[in-house]
Amino acid sequence: VSTAITMKGTRSDKDEAESALSQAELKKRSMQEVRRSLPIFPYREDLLAAITEHQILVIEGETGSGKTTQIPQYLLEDGYTKGGMKIGCTQPRRVAAMSVAARVAEEMSVKLGNEVSPEVGYSIRFEDCTSERTVLKYMTDGMLLREFLTEPDLASYSVIIIDEAHERTLHTDILFGLIKDIARFRPDLKVLVASATLDTERFSCFFDDAPVFRIPGRRFPVDIFYTKAPEADYLGACVVSVLQIHVTQPPGDILVFLTGQEEIEACCEMLQERCRRLGSKIAELVVLPIYANLPSDMQAKIFSPTPPGARKVVVATNIAETSLTIDGIIYVIDPGFCKQKSYNARTGMESLIVTPCSRASANQRAGRAGRVAAGKCFRLYTAWAFKHEMEETTVPEIQRTNLGNVVLLLKSLGRSEETAAMLARRCPPCSLLCVCAGINDLIHFDFMDPPPHETLVLALEQLYALGALNHLGELTKLGRRMAELPVDPMLSKMILASEQYKCSEEVLTIAAMLSVNNSIFYRPKDKVVHADNARMNFVVPGGDHLVLLNVYTQWVESGYSTQWCYENFIQFRSMRRARDVRDQLEGLMERIEVEVVSCSGDNVPIRKAVTAGYFYHTARLSKGGYRTVKHQQTVFVHPNSSLFEEQPRWLIYHELVFTTKEFMRQVTAALLHVIEIDSGWLLEVAPHYYKSKELEDSSSKKMPRKQGKAREELG
Ligand code: ADP
Ligand code: MG
Repeated sequence: VSTAITMKGTRSDKDEAESALSQAELKKRSMQEVRRSLPIFPYREDLLAAITEHQILVIEGETGSGKTTQIPQYLLEDGYTKGGMKIGCTQPRRVAAMSVAARVAEEMSVKLGNEVSPEVGYSIRFEDCTSERTVLKYMTDGMLLREFLTEPDLASYSVIIIDEAHERTLHTDILFGLIKDIARFRPDLKVLVASATLDTERFSCFFDDAPVFRIPGRRFPVDIFYTKAPEADYLGACVVSVLQIHVTQPPGDILVFLTGQEEIEACCEMLQERCRRLGSKIAELVVLPIYANLPSDMQAKIFSPTPPGARKVVVATNIAETSLTIDGIIYVIDPGFCKQKSYNARTGMESLIVTPCSRASANQRAGRAGRVAAGKCFRLYTAWAFKHEMEETTVPEIQRTNLGNVVLLLKSLGRSEETAAMLARRCPPCSLLCVCAGINDLIHFDFMDPPPHETLVLALEQLYALGALNHLGELTKLGRRMAELPVDPMLSKMILASEQYKCSEEVLTIAAMLSVNNSIFYRPKDKVVHADNARMNFVVPGGDHLVLLNVYTQWVESGYSTQWCYENFIQFRSMRRARDVRDQLEGLMERIEVEVVSCSGDNVPIRKAVTAGYFYHTARLSKGGYRTVKHQQTVFVHPNSSLFEEQPRWLIYHELVFTTKEFMRQVTAALLHVIEIDSGWLLEVAPHYYKSKELEDSSSKKMPRKQGKAREELG
């Protein structure tokens, strides 16, 4: 018996080893087959030839044709990384940068027989996943922009691919100008501008008539269905549509487009709940969310194959419009909305608004249904609305956002004397970066679509108010230090101000917690009361910033415990991310010479530091809500805020968010993350911005004694 068992064991071991071998072999083969089956593959040689011939090339191809994953590999195979030179590929979205890098590493490591591929890496804000050996570098457009600070001519790159160019994000648009410029004095640098089938003529035109390389797509027909009447509750309508498709339609996965994390989570919960109730009456439905802040292990799930007999439904933000390709989608559900940043250049107010998407977006979304076979797209709006209520294309971000961040960055690029001297040696005098060394840089910047003049002026004004620029528009010492931090000017000012108020320890924590986007508190539908009670336990006087600080401090005391998070309805992943962000910010403190010290329990210095950064965002209690001080706009405290009940006279807010229901009929503004302040502090931190008359307040007659002192010290 024992012999038999041994023999059996031996044989099965061998079988297993063999089958494992063949599995790897199969995977390798199938991965290579997939690579060869992509629409771009037949054009590999032509494409490489075109790149040899032209310095700048615009590449157009349908989503999923292989631009992002294949072109960098072709270039690598063709020798563009000889001598350790890098190929950089920018993505507007962090999720895309991570997921695409993972995919390419997988494709390459199979080929190389390694488990991990050190050649491929990605870099996104607060997360650098590259090594010395990285030669294919995927990164967000914002990260490449920051690289100009340390390497103004991008000398370590042989190729820069500006991918997803049609997205026209602010950072991509700025990169266009900068890269067009350095291409002039770096003839060896290859520039590829890759885009879905949109706008390519404009890119070509901007890049001095660069040729356009078109990759013919394959697209199957997509039937489009509209609703007869407007849908009041599009979230509910999505859930119903998914289930209807699941029950009545032939196999094929479903992709639903929603606007953000909250909606997506709500939709997934509803779907799971319905499925649970229907039980075995229906086939299995695999519900998967995808949005920017989703942890990467969860993100990867959307790519795993659907189990036989089941159906997959991916509930996504517009990240799935063009940045990510999910194979197997046959049905698309499109409520027709997206979350957009909007900016009022008169008041300087920036907010996130759920708004109808453009027709171009709607068509891209529909296109996702026709990649593998004929598909169907269910639009949860009327044909009339498509024609009359939607814009033709999305307005480029540069025309609807605060430019403070990039202006500061561009200023610091130009103001480095070393940079200017180095570039002056290499480039013609008309060149942008040399002009940057002067003060009129931004007016001469080569924008594809210039931002509104007022927006630019306002950005300069705000930077001046923050003390980052002097009255000549030149970068101050403070401004230079602010530019070193990869966060918005107001946040970096807050961090730098913490030096003066001796509370950098606390302010770093607050900055990190603010950076994780309102995803600290966990509020499951079935435990709302418990969750809200848990949240109440963290409340401390003074406002939400201090609550965030309290949460973090208690978490540290718990020893960074998962269990503690679970018991207190805190999202562990968000906390872990906050810790990462905090570590990175702390690491930068040395570079900008800020000592990390604690104010040990006194919250006034903390609130003053917040005020020093966010004095733009001041609101005063008035009838029926709050009013912003400078522009008298009515705003409300978010019900989740710790100051919702208390309603102090003066507030500073971190963010303004417009929430909407029913096609924008009801719009309410909410102030997210507010902190109580003393109006006198405003004059202390920004005497050149606020006049004491504006801040007159019957109950608080405190006037500053030493105007301008704080600014001098900081500047
Ligand atoms: P493009 O940039 O032209 O939109 P991609 O290079 O992103 O195209 O994708 C090409 C193909 O690679 C997709 O159609 C898909 O089959 C495959 N692919 C891309 N990313 C992944 C992934 N993370 N997992 C599995 N397959 C992927
Ligand atoms: Mg792509």
